[in-house]
Amino acid sequence: MALSRFTQVGFIGLGAMGKHMAEQLAIKLPDHARVSIFDVAKPPIEELVRKYPGKIVGCTSPRKVAESAEFILSMVPEGSHVKSVYLDEKTGVASIDLEDRVLIDCSTIDIATSLLVKQHIAEHHPSASFYDAPVSGGTLGAEKGTIAFFLGCSEQDPMIEILRELLGLMGKQIIPCGKPSLGLAAKLCNNYLSGLIAIASAESLSMGIKADLDPRVLSRVFAAGTAQNAICDRFNPCPGIVHDAPSSKGYEGGFKVQLMKKDFSLAMNMAESVGATLALGNRGLKTYEAASNDPECFDRDSRVVFRYIGGDEKWAEKFEK
Ligand code: NAD
Repeated sequence: MALSRFTQVGFIGLGAMGKHMAEQLAIKLPDHARVSIFDVAKPPIEELVRKYPGKIVGCTSPRKVAESAEFILSMVPEGSHVKSVYLDEKTGVASIDLEDRVLIDCSTIDIATSLLVKQHIAEHHPSASFYDAPVSGGTLGAEKGTIAFFLGCSEQDPMIEILRELLGLMGKQIIPCGKPSLGLAAKLCNNYLSGLIAIASAESLSMGIKADLDPRVLSRVFAAGTAQNAICDRFNPCPGIVHDAPSSKGYEGGFKVQLMKKDFSLAMNMAESVGATLALGNRGLKTYEAASNDPECFDRDSRVVFRYIGGDEKWAEKFEK
């Protein structure tokens, strides 16, 4: 199908993820397409406008983005920011007539806010559509255009082909999760699980090192055994096992521990609202809260829980003796 339908695309929120996603659009959309961008911070707007002159156009508000774009994506931190991007009476996307616009929020936020925005759009702009489409794959995936999108709609949605085409410019997998807000529900389930796997992996590695097991050997055991998991294989919490993992670079880059705390807490709220029992939820949340408040862990990749629980980062000295 032709990409030529995407002549006017908007992107709001140009942080660690959004900046790369907007760049993927600028690189892959045809020459005549325009990408209108906005962020509350000016530097990322200026940087992208400089890098893609004529292709990327800076705007002064979400409303201005909506005035010049038919397809609008957003990637901001939390529900309060999404609300302001779409519903602010003066500067929000929905402050103009949104005839036929397609709005896609990729932020990981609470389900109630996402449904509130969707409801508002449906009531006031019936020809427009709003989708939750949170992502997974991290900043590296965003930079390479390989992230996965979890879409809050069914395979039968009338826009599905258009959504696949547009999101396919920024990611490799697009998974329709059933209906509105289920993209977010899927994302929260995923991060709850991967957050717990990271804590359990950190604990097992720390325990093994203290019991005189070389963590390189132990990681091979996990990979061969029933404990095999993507966190140990690709984001091993113990430094020096996976060389390009954040843990091997002082836990720089990756998925910040505060973002894991936010997502973990959102997942627990969802569990409560649907009446699901979580045996490990409270311990997990307390661990990520405490790690986020620890100056040695704050702002670092969430697999820094290995450091937080006192894992031996200098294990190599022990095994060289
Ligand atoms: P970030 O903090 O790096 O970037 C957020 C950007 O939004 C910032 O540039 C900020 O200035 C901008 N912003 C805030 N309020 C705004 C507003 N009202 N209008 C316009 N711009 C506004 O965050 P990020 O890492 O890019 O994450 C964004 C979302 O994606 C979060 O919900 C996060 O949980 C999710 N996410 C992040 C990752 C990751 O690895 N970083 C991975 C998957 C999902």
